[in-house]
Amino acid sequence: MPLYDYKCDGCQHCFEVSHAMAAPAIKVCPECGKKRVRKVLSTGGVLNSSKGGQDASPPSGPCASMGGGCAGGMCPM
Ligand SMILES: [Zn+2]
Repeated sequence: MPLYDYKCDGCQHCFEVSHAMAAPAIKVCPECGKKRVRKVLSTGGVLNSSKGGQDASPPSGPCASMGGGCAGGMCPM
């Protein structure tokens, strides 16, 4: 199953969910419970190609690793 990256606009929590493509998207944040979750593009080379090689993105997505920049609400996305 594909892995999707989600981000909560309420608390900036980033998380990954693996579900079928046909399954409905996650809407509720598991952290704060708000319906502010939106799907973010996981890195399949899409972000890299659009940036034109500005910098090498981390391999695991815009929300990178848990406990990274997103944890304190510092996610640039
Ligand atoms: Zn949240």
